[in-house]
Amino acid sequence: MSETTPTTPVRHLLGLSGGKDSSALAIYLRDRVPEMEYFFADTGAELPETLEYIDLLQDYLGKTIVRLNAERDFDYYLKYHNNFLPSARQRWCTVNLKLVPFESFVGEDQAVSYIAIRADEPSRSGYVSTKPNITTRMPFREDGITKEDVFAILEESGIGVPRYYKWRSRSGCYFCFFQQQQEWAGLKEHHPELFKAAKAYERIDEKTGRLFTWNQAGPLDEVIKRAENNRGRPTKVSPPKKLMDALFSDGDGADDACLICMK
Ligand code: SF4
Repeated sequence: MSETTPTTPVRHLLGLSGGKDSSALAIYLRDRVPEMEYFFADTGAELPETLEYIDLLQDYLGKTIVRLNAERDFDYYLKYHNNFLPSARQRWCTVNLKLVPFESFVGEDQAVSYIAIRADEPSRSGYVSTKPNITTRMPFREDGITKEDVFAILEESGIGVPRYYKWRSRSGCYFCFFQQQQEWAGLKEHHPELFKAAKAYERIDEKTGRLFTWNQAGPLDEVIKRAENNRGRPTKVSPPKKLMDALFSDGDGADDACLICMK
């Protein structure tokens, strides 16, 4: 009798960011892909509302959402990067706190990674792993699901949108440099202690006078002043450029950011 090598089943993986699209995708696929494994790469700097929403989703999905943590925390990587705060051009935070934990979670297993890019985002490519054992699927794009449908999925499930939506348009770290002026103002209003913690990362190099700030426009106190002056006016969004845009997003305005963190 010949011996056969047992084949390892392909894993089906869906990463939740605490944002509306990945959450709606999890709900959409819950019964279509029952073998789905859900995960959440926790940077250790998530908003309380995001963590609360992940718990809510876990109850709805009836399955554990595996929390992935990087081996080291943000402060360690900050020091490693000579105290240069991450930025749209230097997104080392995403690599170390999200991508590396994800790829180590997959290991060498054959896996399908489900990405929540919608049909109304034709220019987006999202994170496509360079690992040959990971293939990508975009069910929303395949099925013609748009932003409006995403809100309907969340509404009909009873989950609704995350609470931070009242003042912030995306999930991600409380200090995320992708935040717009009004979102920083929202952080200050809703989480003054986190705003203070974000401010504490900003500094001036005493020798050179160079500012290390989250926002290119200047220190957070100035960003807040500007936000107060601009209240009610539409804000400009600076799209991320170069570096890993090809991996994470390729820009469609206000939602443009790293998909693995915020989708
Ligand atoms: S949410 Fe922002 S700060 Fe956090 S890992 Fe993603 S890009 Fe970096």
